[in-house]
Amino acid sequence: MGIVSRVHSFCAGHRVIGHPNKCNNTHGHNYKIEVNFKYQEISDLGYRVDFGEIKSIFIAWIEMYIDHGYIANPEDPIIKYLEEQNHKIHIMHLGNPTAENIATELYYVAELMMKSKGLTVDNIKLWETPNCYVIVDRISPEDRYILDTKFYPEYKSSLDTKNFLQCKKREE
Ligand SMILES: [Zn+2]
Repeated sequence: MGIVSRVHSFCAGHRVIGHPNKCNNTHGHNYKIEVNFKYQEISDLGYRVDFGEIKSIFIAWIEMYIDHGYIANPEDPIIKYLEEQNHKIHIMHLGNPTAENIATELYYVAELMMKSKGLTVDNIKLWETPNCYVIVDRISPEDRYILDTKFYPEYKSSLDTKNFLQCKKREE
C-alpha cells in the first residue's frame, strides 16, 4: 500500500461571481495540481503505474480541456462571447470556479479516468497561487450526485479513458 503522486502546472482564467472583492473580476492564475493516488499492490516489476500513464491520461485531459482556457461559472454571461469566439472554456458543474470546486471536479475526472489503471484517488491538492492551496480528499454525496447526473455529455464521453486516448490520437 502506498501513494503515487504527480504534479503539474496549468494556466486558466476565471472569475468568482458574487465575490465581494477583486475575485469578481475576470483574471487568471498559474495553477499547480498535485494528484495523489493510493494503491494496494505493485507489479512484479516493482511499480504500480508508469508515471507516464498519469501524464498521458489525467494530465493530458487537463491540457486538452482546461489549460489556457476559461473556467466559467455556468451563470457567467461571458460564456456566450467566448463560445462565439471559439475560445477554450470549461463550464463548471459545481457553480463558481473556486479552487475547492475545481479541485473537486478534477478529483472526479481523475477517479473515473485512472480507475482502469487500478488507481484510486486519495486526494488532490490545487494551488491557486504559490501561497494558497486547497486539498480535496473526497466528493460530498451532493456534489457526486451533480457530477454523476449532470456532467455535460461532451465531457462525459471524454472521461472514458479509451475514448479519450482515441480522440487524443486523432488530434495529434
Ligand atoms: Zn482567482
